[in-house]
Amino acid sequence: MKLVRYGMLGKEKPGLIDADGKLRDLSKHIKNIGPDQLGDAALARLRALKTDELPLVKGTPRYASPVAGVPKFIAIGLNFADHAAESGLPIPPEPIVFMKATSCIQGPNDDVMLPKGSVKTDWEVELGVVMGTRARYVSQKDALSHVAGYCTINDVSEREYQIERGGTWDKGKGCDTFGPIGPWLVTRDEIPNPQKLGMWLDVNGKRMQTGNTKTMIFSVAKIVSYVSQFMTLEPGDVITTGTPPGVGLGMKPPMYLKKGDVMTLGIEGLGEQRQTVVPFSR
Ligand code: ZN
Repeated sequence: MKLVRYGMLGKEKPGLIDADGKLRDLSKHIKNIGPDQLGDAALARLRALKTDELPLVKGTPRYASPVAGVPKFIAIGLNFADHAAESGLPIPPEPIVFMKATSCIQGPNDDVMLPKGSVKTDWEVELGVVMGTRARYVSQKDALSHVAGYCTINDVSEREYQIERGGTWDKGKGCDTFGPIGPWLVTRDEIPNPQKLGMWLDVNGKRMQTGNTKTMIFSVAKIVSYVSQFMTLEPGDVITTGTPPGVGLGMKPPMYLKKGDVMTLGIEGLGEQRQTVVPFSR
């Protein structure tokens, strides 16, 4: 299933994308898509619905993050060897774990706002993992059975705040609008192998990032297992799993986002995002 949340900010409804790519409303069946709707039993109930009997949604509404009420937004750094190289950093011996503030989460096509005074705002297309059930000290073998599904994420990053402001990385990762998620939460039954998904990102129509999850240093199963040794993963937690090369920081000279730039990005089978960069406003 491709689950979505759609509608105006604060008035989002749950929905799904049917086999013909049409948006259908789920609000007669579930209140929202969040921690309480992501377990295997809850997803099985949705899967049993007759999709062609669900109401079609008219027009082209805004998409929100397909997950509401995300308890934790966890991120993995330098998970592609060639991205570590372009960042001038060694390949990490263990996954680098940091947090993105949940207040940065937004819809996939909402504007990205430059933070106040920012001159080094950058892009990162990433595979997002959405937890379906609680995971605590899970093995790598069992890890994926705790995953509800997958999504496209732009791990927007302010490099000066991330690297030059005394630590930690979190300062440059959780600014408002820095977490576009979606458009779809694709349930894990449709992505039997998350380690073979093509990914790309363009700025103003020019290809900047091309990658594939097959070249991740640490697999999704490894990441879920690893993170669960340090904190309990709860339903609705989102883990963004690292970016392939081609970020602005790695350009010679570096190139950062400015007002009016448009980022478009996507992951094979998980849908596409489009964000316009806007200046700081309160
Ligand atoms: Zn990242």
